[in-house]
Amino acid sequence: MTRIACCVPFCRKMIRAEQIEPAGRTEWMCRTHFNALPAIRRRAYRKACKRLGSLRALPAVRLWRRIRAQAIEAAAGIKGGVRVG
Ligand SMILES: [Zn+2]
Repeated sequence: MTRIACCVPFCRKMIRAEQIEPAGRTEWMCRTHFNALPAIRRRAYRKACKRLGSLRALPAVRLWRRIRAQAIEAAAGIKGGVRVG
């Protein structure tokens, strides 16, 4: 049983690899950190995730990098948007 930790440093939440949505991902963000993101980002990411598995999967990957960076910055007390990837 593989367990994956939240991608935000020092967050100790874990999830079983089988439970991860969409399957096959190696990174995961816990609910606490995901819900701390601006709603517009969460909505955009969820929408992009629906297209995973198709040819339009790239926006979801890009958005994931952005929301991950933003969650880590928010957890570290840095405010404002980020542009990564
Ligand atoms: Zn977390």
